[in-house]
Amino acid sequence: MNSQQYIALDESYVAHTYNPIEVVIERGEGAWVYDVEGKRYFDCLSAYSAVNQGHCHPRILEAAVSQMHRVTLTSRAFFNDQMGLFLKQLCELTGYEMALPMNTGAEAVETAIKAARMWGYRMKGVAHDQAEIIVCEGNFAGRTTTLISFSSEEQYKEDFGPLTPGFKTIPYGDHEALAEAITPNTVAFLVEPIQGEGGVIVPPAGYLKHVAEICAANNVLFIADEIQTGLGRTGALLCCDHEGVRPDMVTLGKALSGGVYPVSAVLADRRVLGLFRPGDHGSTFGGNPLASAIARAALDVLVDEGLVDRSREIGAYFMGRLKRIESDHIEEVRGKGLLIGVEMSSLARPYCDSLRDAGILCKDTHGTIVRFAPPLVISKEEIDWAMERIEPILSNGHQ
Ligand SMILES: *Cc1c(COP(=O)(O)O)cnc(C)c1O
Repeated sequence: MNSQQYIALDESYVAHTYNPIEVVIERGEGAWVYDVEGKRYFDCLSAYSAVNQGHCHPRILEAAVSQMHRVTLTSRAFFNDQMGLFLKQLCELTGYEMALPMNTGAEAVETAIKAARMWGYRMKGVAHDQAEIIVCEGNFAGRTTTLISFSSEEQYKEDFGPLTPGFKTIPYGDHEALAEAITPNTVAFLVEPIQGEGGVIVPPAGYLKHVAEICAANNVLFIADEIQTGLGRTGALLCCDHEGVRPDMVTLGKALSGGVYPVSAVLADRRVLGLFRPGDHGSTFGGNPLASAIARAALDVLVDEGLVDRSREIGAYFMGRLKRIESDHIEEVRGKGLLIGVEMSSLARPYCDSLRDAGILCKDTHGTIVRFAPPLVISKEEIDWAMERIEPILSNGHQ
């Protein structure tokens, strides 16, 4: 079968919740993927930053295969010999006391919301069903009914109500708005350190520091959603590290498994996560031994291959080169590490299609933004290769 036939299959049988770039990927290795015709592409999306460690990393695959031959799923009705080791490693790496494993990013954010509400009722003394969580305009947290309830994208929610109450929206990057929005019922502020899906929006310097101070002063939990920005993507282990702040809770997902399996987690100290009692929360697959073994290897790769430093160094080089493109069609180049957004003066999709033709895979976000977020394993030479192709495409306009 050729690409057009595969695309036709999707058209017929798959609910149209996406509008994919027309490329049918058959295999991947490191920063590269190959389509069914054998054409090679430089992956500049990394599955929305899930494949930070590169496609099909041999060490992660090895861990997956060997664990598959032992046991894959036990459920949390029993203990297994992988989950504790995984979460110890994750807590030691990030400096938190406890973790709660889930599967998808959306589930991690849902879990953080439940934890914050529970903390509010049991510890802060908020009256039942009165807890408020403050969120930001332009947020993205996933697609469950509760998470879309506080989205500012009309399409995400207009036909999917009734919506979950208990959220208040303020502008992103404005710490004074946070201070003003807090009430005695506020239990948490949920924020992305850089808004990824929102268009690679980088808040003003010092924002996260102010946020941490305001939350601490008001006994409000500071929850950082690092599902996209975490695990080296922005040139620090956590994006919050750039400002030296330590949120009360952190959500991780995506690259936690190197893209091999859905693995997510919520991190916090005992004073929050220690409040959960048996029966309060759960997941059949959360913390399963296969997921845990894969995540252990994915974290090992991140550390042993120095991918956080690499992201910072190569990201600075890539961003520098993108900023030097002379084009009337580029409004702004922004980001941190290897999470880079190029805002165009018109729709980004035609640029992404041209880039695809030139062997570079990107996906437009928020209309006019081309996101460049390659796997962290890329080299300077690969960036040079990509820039030879990116530069002429972003210099020539599309209507
Ligand atoms: C992708 C993403 C999520 C949701 O993750 P899923 O695995 O798609 O459910 C949540 N928050 C942020 C910031 C994300 O980028």
